[in-house]
Amino acid sequence: SQRLASVSTAPPDSILGLTEAFLADTNPNKMNLSVGVYKDASGKTPILECVKEAERRLIDDESTKGYLGIDGLPAYREHVRQLVFGDRVEADRIAVLQSPGGTGALRVASDFLVTQLSPIRIWMSSPTWANHPAIFNAAGLPSDTYRYLGSDRTSFDVDAMIEDLDTKTSPGDAILLHACCHNPTGIDPTPDQWKQIAETVAMRQLLPLIDFAYQGFGDGLTEDTLGLYTLLDAVDEAIVCTSFSKNFGLYSERVGAVCLIAADAGAMKASQSQLKAIVRSNYSNPPRHGGAIVATVLDDAKLTDQWKGEVEQMRQRITRLRTDFVTTMKTTGQGHDFSFLLPQRGMFSFSGLTPMQVDQLKQKHGIYIVGSGRINVAGMSEEKMQQLCDAVAAVLE
Ligand code: PLP
Repeated sequence: SQRLASVSTAPPDSILGLTEAFLADTNPNKMNLSVGVYKDASGKTPILECVKEAERRLIDDESTKGYLGIDGLPAYREHVRQLVFGDRVEADRIAVLQSPGGTGALRVASDFLVTQLSPIRIWMSSPTWANHPAIFNAAGLPSDTYRYLGSDRTSFDVDAMIEDLDTKTSPGDAILLHACCHNPTGIDPTPDQWKQIAETVAMRQLLPLIDFAYQGFGDGLTEDTLGLYTLLDAVDEAIVCTSFSKNFGLYSERVGAVCLIAADAGAMKASQSQLKAIVRSNYSNPPRHGGAIVATVLDDAKLTDQWKGEVEQMRQRITRLRTDFVTTMKTTGQGHDFSFLLPQRGMFSFSGLTPMQVDQLKQKHGIYIVGSGRINVAGMSEEKMQQLCDAVAAVLE
């Protein structure tokens, strides 16, 4: 008998499904503002110059394709520790494991919470990146949500968040926080709000799981650690999941890290051994190339400077496009005020467009954005800004 005949079709991934529809669209003026990928002025997702140079060196110098250790390249791990934590936390309290992207890091972290700290539940902002609940579900980690947005859906309601944490969480629960460039809203807490959050996390004895996928895309590589450091001042334990997909443009190389901070070196070592056991029975050990690129760049002062310059260029381009959009909307059609987008950070902005308006943009104008109204600002272009704003103004009439 056929075992597979009973398998039903999984629903398509909501965001990647949109890209399929976009590719099939014959509208010559179509625009894809859905997926979270940076694009330059020519609409391409470029390979950074520092990455090209590192790869040239690797071709010449790399001497083996032998397996990496379970936790990845030592030089890479040390650079991640310095880049993310600086001297903020003692090195012997941090375990860093190279992972296949930020997603891989989140999955390893989830498996760790389930296998080591159950019963445990994780609290996520509503809304959050759609893959967060999917990863937690896949790992068997129970999840729940705390409020994040105000009723206008364009601002952060810190009081609502704190109230939910105060009244709904149990001691020992985990809480997912976005270190910067909150996806999908682009709305981050202010420094004072971070303090409030950190105090509550400490008081409620929550374990922070911090998703740090956009370091350098908010206010700058160093500036973007503010929320993380505020939390680490308040608590002794945390897990941080990082990614070089965006700030190194290494999307397809799958390189990130799961970083665990414990109260002391002994507790760190025990947790590190469990993280390694989880990796071993999952993907065994991480792929080398992405980690080798990052280590090659960050080992070399000149390449590091070049990288910092390239991240800054991407960051500034996104900020410029966001400002251009707001200005062009003001002078287009009925003069719509989108200035609430200006404090938003990172690749995404929550536009406040309704699912119906999002659908009209797609059907009538070939403009693809996610149903929640999340726009990938990095997918906009100077060249098509007027066309985009005319279409948005048309669906708002
Ligand atoms: N976390 C958030 C919030 C993201 O938006 C992304 C990528 O879109 C990731 C994590 C992980 O990305 P990757 O697995 O490609 O490194």
